[in-house]
Amino acid sequence: KKITIAIDGYSSTGKSTLAKQLAKKLGYVYVDTGAMYRAIAFFSMQHGYINADSFNKESLINSLPSIRLQFQFNPDLGFAEMYLNDENVEKQIRTIEVSSFVSKVAEITEVRTKLVEQQQEMGKNKGIVMDGRDIGTVVFPDAELKIFMTASSQTRAQRRYDELIQKGDTVTFEEVFKNVEERDYIDTHRSNSPLVIADDAIEIDNSNLNREEQFNLVLELVRE
Ligand code: C5P
Repeated sequence: KKITIAIDGYSSTGKSTLAKQLAKKLGYVYVDTGAMYRAIAFFSMQHGYINADSFNKESLINSLPSIRLQFQFNPDLGFAEMYLNDENVEKQIRTIEVSSFVSKVAEITEVRTKLVEQQQEMGKNKGIVMDGRDIGTVVFPDAELKIFMTASSQTRAQRRYDELIQKGDTVTFEEVFKNVEERDYIDTHRSNSPLVIADDAIEIDNSNLNREEQFNLVLELVRE
């Protein structure tokens, strides 16, 4: 019987890696909700609504109806890529610049309402693995399996840094570390659906687990 799997946790805990692996193994659909918030942050940058000094929330809120987000499965990659108004923005949404604005965009109630609705629609049929910050608490409070992932900031920043460097980005470790801590701070302190662990979630600290150990652990939970 197919179920709904919610994977939440702090930034760069390896949520998406785990979620992708699980979806592939189980034949489920994987949805990366962070990509949706990132696409809206990218849109805000493109339109000059947000920069290092200011954020015109009003203009973003007014533009929300004209923002269309879609996932399109890419068979070569084995996962779905993010499309913003028919443009593939998968690469653009992963930059450190988008990372530095995304949590501010994710604080806006109207943004969350729009995205949560779309996420609930995508998860209407069971057999879904969704990762984010509020999946087990807000999007699918009735999910059969909820995982909450944590790891030390040092471990997480190192992982994200390695990932960005591999992609050819020229960030410094300090920049990445600062960004990871900043996002966690905003995500856990926002008034609107703050990042909290659901009462019935299983917490996994993967500071000292490799990917395979973690995957096997979660696979066992799915089979229970
Ligand atoms: O998962 P990822 O790190 O790509 O998410 C980027 C940001 O989007 C998070 O730091 C958070 O501010 C926001 N987000 C959110 N709710 C979600 C997913 C992401 O607020 N369900």
